[in-house]
Amino acid sequence: MTATPHPDTDGARHRAEGRPRGLLRPTGPVVDCDIAVIGSGMGGATLAYALRGTGARVLVVERGDFLPREWQNWSAPAVFTAGRYRNAEPWYDAGADRYFDPGVHYYVGGNTKVFGATLPRFREADFGPVEHAEGVSRGWPFPYGVLEPHYARAERLYRVHGARGADPTDPWRSGEYPWPAVAHEPPVASLAESLRAQGLKPFALPTGVDLRADGACLRCATCDGFPCLVEAKSDADVCALRPALAAGNVSLLTRTTVTRLVTGPSGRRVTTALAQYEGRELRIQAGRFVLACGAVNTAALLLRSEPGALRTGPVRETGLANGSGQAGRNYMVHNSTFLMAVDPRRADEVVFQKTLGVNDWYLGNGTHGPLGNVQALGKLRAPSAGGLWPRAPRPLLAAATRRSMDLYLTSEDLPVPDNRVTVGPRERVEVHWRPVNLPPHRELVRRATAMMRRAGFPLVFTRRMGIAVNSHQCGTAVAGEDPATSVVGPDCKAHELDNLWVADSSWFPSSAAVNPALTIAANALRIAPMVAGIADVAEEMEVPYGPGAGDPRDGGSAGPCPTGGPRGDRGTAGP
Ligand SMILES: Cc1cc2nc3c(=O)[nH]c(=O)nc-3n(C[C@H](O)[C@H](O)[C@H](O)COP(=O)(O)OP(=O)(O)OC[C@H]3O[C@@H](n4cnc5c(N)ncnc54)[C@H](O)[C@@H]3O)c2cc1C
Ligand code: SF4
Repeated sequence: MTATPHPDTDGARHRAEGRPRGLLRPTGPVVDCDIAVIGSGMGGATLAYALRGTGARVLVVERGDFLPREWQNWSAPAVFTAGRYRNAEPWYDAGADRYFDPGVHYYVGGNTKVFGATLPRFREADFGPVEHAEGVSRGWPFPYGVLEPHYARAERLYRVHGARGADPTDPWRSGEYPWPAVAHEPPVASLAESLRAQGLKPFALPTGVDLRADGACLRCATCDGFPCLVEAKSDADVCALRPALAAGNVSLLTRTTVTRLVTGPSGRRVTTALAQYEGRELRIQAGRFVLACGAVNTAALLLRSEPGALRTGPVRETGLANGSGQAGRNYMVHNSTFLMAVDPRRADEVVFQKTLGVNDWYLGNGTHGPLGNVQALGKLRAPSAGGLWPRAPRPLLAAATRRSMDLYLTSEDLPVPDNRVTVGPRERVEVHWRPVNLPPHRELVRRATAMMRRAGFPLVFTRRMGIAVNSHQCGTAVAGEDPATSVVGPDCKAHELDNLWVADSSWFPSSAAVNPALTIAANALRIAPMVAGIADVAEEMEVPYGPGAGDPRDGGSAGPCPTGGPRGDRGTAGP
């Protein structure tokens, strides 16, 4: 299939208009390309990056727009109290029969625009079946070794700083981290010391921020949950999509929501993605399609679509790629808890807090099975803590967060068929989710609480997250060898279609218990040659951020901090 370059993809014209190169503004009803990637978050943007320079005309279709760079990016009241960047429609909690505001963000770069940039690899054991208190999490259709080289590439692409060997559960790796670990600030270092005295093995979290010698990161207090005003956070927009757009063969269509996929008469090939663009219908025609809408929206799109002819009638039960009935099922998020440990005698000293992790209970310990991961949070302040403890008076929260260390605890959620996404009346997104595997999570909370008390924090407050905190969502189109129990194969191509892949977290057979974004990125790099139908992508094009390499970011990227902003030390040495 050949793609006709749209007259409005001319780079010079876009630069003159202050828009990134490759931004498409269609005037007609049809857009043509070779590969349509739907969604520009971690999966979609990384895939587009890997497809640059392949010769294929790649179109990334994104329902959101660019997240504006403005002073509110770093305002806690704007971000947390006013919810300035929360732009997703309400989803329906099928168990509670009410709507909720999901923790997803529709922007170029997806959820990574506000993520905490903690970028660990999954543990090697996560790739096999793991026995938990309430069941077995599925094994993956390939071992860790298959993904390892792509993890290494993703770490370079996303500027990951880390310390090899510091985390006893780390999987083997073929090389060093591309950059040394982000140093702990003194209060975090002293907590680490205290944990070591308890016999634990705290480590420096692998982190994607630009703390290279000439990097723009200021180590500010407004990172986790905030957009980065100076674009120094390793989000998918800055690190992957913009270099992809600069390559010439990748275009981006923003403010365009794909509503349905349509197949040809055989039902084996998707021919068209129907989309809403500025109040009108757009038909996106491509030879190959990739879904990267985030696990829930990818499932909803499959369920809204159907094999065969174009249709406008009610939603069918079966959906597309769903002969197994598995599309939308096995929805997982992590069981997660926020922990605020307060020492009333402490002074307010920490700026960039999110540097410490503890995995001593990740794989199990003593008589208990796997419990999960403990990691520092971005520093809680009254506006963010107010979302967790809404009844607490703000002055009290302000006082507590000035004296606290804050942690995020995650345990594995298990894939069960009844935890699922469906599409309901008026096409609403419905989430059916009952927490599974809670006993190990409670044990993790108990141990982390005791750990912090022993470290000198007499007051420990915890809040377990519910259905709305779904930032680590995955499953819904799980990968496997058997078409009866999975939606896509090991290569992430739909079993029932010849030209449809998934590249977001929907293919995860299990959720593990660490942050998912690096695994999504590594897999997108892995499947890119299969999506492109070529042997491999050019390795020499893969290391734009490697030592000595130029910065591929085009105009409008990191600049000096307009406000100065709160900042801490710029240390880059590992602890
Ligand atoms: C506050 C917060 C902190 C986080 N911290 C971390 C962290 O520290 N480490 C980590 O690993 N992970 C973190 N995450 C999670 C991480 O951001 C996600 O796992 C990751 O972004 C998921 O990638 P994805 O490609 O699956 O989906 P997303 O990144 O969500 O991207 C999906 C994209 O598809 C678009 N889209 C959806 N539907 C359609 C449609 N129908 N048509 C067109 N476009 C569509 C969306 O607008 C979005 O841009 C965090 C998330 C949040 C919200
Ligand atoms: S400047 Fe602040 S928001 Fe940006 S990456 Fe660094 S710590 Fe994060």
